[in-house]
Amino acid sequence: MKLFGNCLNQLLQQGFEVMSKNTRQTGKVGIPRTALYLFLSSLALLLFVNASMGSARATSSVSMQETGAEAVPASAESVDVEPGGAQGEEVTAIESESVRPQAEGPFDVEAATQAYMSRLSPEQKARSDAYFEGGYWLLLWGFLYGIGVAWLLLGTGLSVRMRDLAERLTKRLPLQTALYAAQYVIVTALLGFPLTLYTGFFREHQYELATQTFGPWLREQMIGLAVGIVIMPIVLVIMYGVLRRAPRTWWVWGAAVSIVLAAILILLGPVYLDPLFNTYEPLEEGPVQESILSLARANGINVDNVYQFDASRQSTRVSANVSGFAGTMSIRLNDNLLNRMELPAIEAVMAHEMGHYVLNHIYEMLIYFAVILLGGFAFLRWSFDRVLGRWGARWGVRGITDVAGLPLLVALLSIYMFVLTPVLNTIIRTNEAESDIFGLNAARQPDGFAEAALSLSEYRKLDPGPIEEWLFFDHPSGRARIHMAMQWKAEHLEELGARD
Ligand SMILES: [Zn+2]
Repeated sequence: MKLFGNCLNQLLQQGFEVMSKNTRQTGKVGIPRTALYLFLSSLALLLFVNASMGSARATSSVSMQETGAEAVPASAESVDVEPGGAQGEEVTAIESESVRPQAEGPFDVEAATQAYMSRLSPEQKARSDAYFEGGYWLLLWGFLYGIGVAWLLLGTGLSVRMRDLAERLTKRLPLQTALYAAQYVIVTALLGFPLTLYTGFFREHQYELATQTFGPWLREQMIGLAVGIVIMPIVLVIMYGVLRRAPRTWWVWGAAVSIVLAAILILLGPVYLDPLFNTYEPLEEGPVQESILSLARANGINVDNVYQFDASRQSTRVSANVSGFAGTMSIRLNDNLLNRMELPAIEAVMAHEMGHYVLNHIYEMLIYFAVILLGGFAFLRWSFDRVLGRWGARWGVRGITDVAGLPLLVALLSIYMFVLTPVLNTIIRTNEAESDIFGLNAARQPDGFAEAALSLSEYRKLDPGPIEEWLFFDHPSGRARIHMAMQWKAEHLEELGARD
């Protein structure tokens, strides 16, 4: 851990030395040199990620959310249809509308897909559709709410007052930035609290996805706030250092530094942040542990630990992830997955997670993020001065290097990210589909995989339209996943038959 910290400091220091030297010597930086430095910093980042993780490539906290199966309402296991090949044929007659009998082979992929899908009752389907479609609107309301908070901070002069207070308390610029950042975290948390309360607490209870009472929930919000008060000043001191040192090219450096910071957070999150909210302990010895270790070994993953954690403390959601760095790696299953799913489904989910790991999705995502962030900072460069030219005087914001302008930067970046939502979703969904197929090939549990996909479809819309899926889904839909699994099954009937 210590070694890692030193590497980190060195990297950051070197980065800033290059950057400050650069701006001091030339005053302005030509595009080719900027591009070269950007390339070098990306390279340094990749080397850094490689070195810090050693042989253990991580899928990071990103995989916390993109688990093969995320949320299973309590009734998930009460659906008592026997999984297996027989049911496909049974339902063929009933689901004639969308069943396309196959010319060859004894196994009807469409019928088997339908058989799984029809296990969700109309009530269950309506409920998960409502929950998921509500999420589309929450995207919009969350975005507008954020813009409203930014407008409030700027329009009422609150942001400027926070800056002035910081300036009165200290003469040192970085400290002023840090003090502003701490105030910003607290004020935005307070202003955003009504929405957080609705989305994070009441709505989750309304759909019976949450297990926490208000007290423990609020306590975790406070822990998150404390983490923000520690991390945000560090991030902003670095970012505003960049803005001040590179007045013309800050957007390039801002993007480069952001991606490094994001990488650090992604790497450290599972080790330092996750344990603040849950307890991680070694998995009980037994067939589940043995089976997962075997899967890992078979797929070239060097693992000597499997952990479980008490996610049931917060919710009924099923989840798992592969994470680790600096030569340590662990596979972490949440207790909902262990308690609710049968072994074939657990294997299918774990094999999906291993897919993220083996296919180096973390690196891929970082590269995508770097490109997206560069676009975002270019947009900030273009838009910030324009908006400030119009309203800056009224707001009392002096310029890009003035920390009081942070709400505007955040609002502009949120506009960019909001517009890019379908692109981001598609990038992630593509990786998820890759991991799905990897997982099928690795675990060879098509029915387990379909079970898992069906379970999480009790809260995620099972069968969206194609445009809807493209816009809003960061995972393949349940229907797509089940179909994929049944197709795989159709091509492996002999093998599966011999195994049984
Ligand atoms: Zn995934």
